[in-house]
Amino acid sequence: MPAVHLLGTGAAISDPHRTTTMLAVTDDRSPPRTLLVDCGGDALQRLQQCGPSIDSVGGLIVTHAHMDHVSGFPLLMEKVWLDGRARALPVVGIEPALAQARRSWDAFEPVHRDWEGLPPIDWRTVEHAPGATVWDEGAWTVTGAPVAHGDTPNVGLRFEHEPTGRVLAYSCDTSGPAKGVVRLAENADLLVHEANGGPSENHSTAAEAAQVADRADVERLLLVHLPPGDKSEELRQAREIFPHTDLGEELGTYSL
Ligand SMILES: [Zn+2]
Repeated sequence: MPAVHLLGTGAAISDPHRTTTMLAVTDDRSPPRTLLVDCGGDALQRLQQCGPSIDSVGGLIVTHAHMDHVSGFPLLMEKVWLDGRARALPVVGIEPALAQARRSWDAFEPVHRDWEGLPPIDWRTVEHAPGATVWDEGAWTVTGAPVAHGDTPNVGLRFEHEPTGRVLAYSCDTSGPAKGVVRLAENADLLVHEANGGPSENHSTAAEAAQVADRADVERLLLVHLPPGDKSEELRQAREIFPHTDLGEELGTYSL
């Protein structure tokens, strides 16, 4: 079965048990292939906690240039090297997101200059346009679409698991309710949507996420990118609009 692991469910600052929002999608074919989405923390340690190995990682998608989405990239590279990876690591994203990942890696250049056997980084730039192909290998086809996030270019994602037809959508960080996310999430089995709070030009409220879930006619909504504090009132408001809404569980695994 295809599944999504919530490696982190917090905003840049959140409750003590939540780290920054990061996702991994997997399927149970052998060998398992994992796609990571963002690395604003120690993504691989969280992945291991969910079960998949470091070696299962088929690629990393970086959504945008903010620290809470990309700052763990140098650590991720150190870990895949120490884990013995020889094959290249595909790193996929729109140009500004890849440029940020590249700068953060280059900042450590004096350290990793002489590391033997460091796996090559296969940088893959994705068009910043609705319906752009982000990933099309193995079981997963991933398309992206621009989402509004202040001045920072950013993308939401739609994951289609080809063998089963199951669909996951991810809003990433966006002001809401976003028409682009409604289109990305149309008839999805699961929508993972940020609920950092608002209203603002950068983020969405839980109620706005619920409006997107309702308009896209998804099966289930999970709220992530959660700020610190009690979310019961926000959750109640969201459920009034879209009943099948839950807070994303830190390190939770959800079958699609
Ligand atoms: Zn952001």
